Amino acid sequence: MVQFDNSYARLPDRFFTKIAPEMAPAPEMVLWNAGLAELLGVSDWDAEICAGNVIPDGADPLAQVYAGHQFGGFSPQLGDGRAVLLGEVLSDAGRFDIHLKGAGRTPYSRNGDGRAWVGPVLREFIVSEFMAAAGVPTTRALAAVRTGGRVQRERGYPGAVLVRVAASHIRVGTFQFFTARGDNDAVRALTEHVRARHYPDASDTLDLYAKIVAAQARLIAKWMGLGFVHGVMNTDNMTVSGETIDYGPCAFIDGYSPKACYSSIDQHGRYAYEQQPSIAHWNLAQLGSCFVPQMEEELGGEHQAVEALTEVLNSFPELYQTAWVAEFGRKLGLADATREDVPLIQGLLGLMAEHGADFTNTFAGLRDGTARDWFLDRAAFDHWAEGWTARRSANWEEIVARANPALIPRTHRIEQAIQASLEGDDSLAHRLAETLAKPFTLKDEDRDLTFPPTKDEIVPQTFCGT
Ligand code: AMP
Ligand code: MG
Repeated sequence: MVQFDNSYARLPDRFFTKIAPEMAPAPEMVLWNAGLAELLGVSDWDAEICAGNVIPDGADPLAQVYAGHQFGGFSPQLGDGRAVLLGEVLSDAGRFDIHLKGAGRTPYSRNGDGRAWVGPVLREFIVSEFMAAAGVPTTRALAAVRTGGRVQRERGYPGAVLVRVAASHIRVGTFQFFTARGDNDAVRALTEHVRARHYPDASDTLDLYAKIVAAQARLIAKWMGLGFVHGVMNTDNMTVSGETIDYGPCAFIDGYSPKACYSSIDQHGRYAYEQQPSIAHWNLAQLGSCFVPQMEEELGGEHQAVEALTEVLNSFPELYQTAWVAEFGRKLGLADATREDVPLIQGLLGLMAEHGADFTNTFAGLRDGTARDWFLDRAAFDHWAEGWTARRSANWEEIVARANPALIPRTHRIEQAIQASLEGDDSLAHRLAETLAKPFTLKDEDRDLTFPPTKDEIVPQTFCGT
């Protein structure tokens, strides 16, 4: 039996609007995550519950309000415009939000219809479950359901709901919403809520901030290690729990370029692959400024507060660099990588960029020697490999196998799955969800999923799908 305990709903009224999901005409399950369902104690849930038509006992649905910097510009009021937080369930693995994305209009919908179509819902299901399987902190996907309704975008599409599971949906932008209104009591209440919920060991506000900064440094290093480009790193799309959230126009790099940027709405490459650490740092600066008023009380002055918060903020580059070196060190089979290994790592990345080598297959192919095939200039790779062979750990093969997935959710494959699904065939979506949940083991029959796109298959741009 599922046990709800809705701690967010007990925060002051101005944190949310209580609202039920809209009815879906004819819910139909497309993807169901049986393993996650069991963990949460919701194995008996069906499409009616997942689409929001039936509210389970103990749920207390609401839409959360937040703000956020979108592409650098501040929007003082955003919020769950197409999502409803059903409630929080307590499980053996902890407390989790259950969130219905695409469940209809809320007071925060602005001009949107509150809906999602099946394409972005399938993408988020497949990609977020891959991320979880690859060891990246992330929101999870419990279910993807077709609502039976139509959603109007460039054309009409089948509507869908994603049942998203998260440690919480509290964002940097949630803090910003109250800070922008000068509502210090709310910022304090939110701070206490986040501390109790995510960082119970934090000794004070400054320590809480330090832990959030450290979690983000680790997270972004994980993204970089997978060639993941989030695509919309707005402050409303950054959690304080350190989980990846909001898989919109995200993509994984095929042929490596540090400037990789796929989102159709990111014209200046603000959220390109190589920008992600500095954007995270910038977002964390926005969060830090939300803590100033309460730190001022704790430390007895604005100057002291700003100085202390800035010092924590300035630890980000160092923390990130350490995490990045460890991450890429493991990818190369180095158990104990240090700063001194940066030239070795950059040496390979530089060659990969020069040759447009496939990111995933190069690393996955280090073990069986096929990495070399991705470089036209074999001699240049061999020269790099001499230094690598001399440096790698004794058990490098084991380390490499655990650090480098053979399979990633390639954009063209997801696109093919979405197109097939639109034509009534969900089998590729099922296949991707299943195989990508075990990305480190490659079965022979799945070798086609490791191929980069052919010229005809390339998807040059990705879309939010809102
Ligand atoms: P996103 O870029 O997906 O993070 O969304 C930014 C903001 O737009 C959030 O406040 C969303 O709730 C809102 N939004 C996105 N799509 C829709 C939609 N179809 N209907 C209503 N609100 C939306
Ligand atoms: Mg968002």
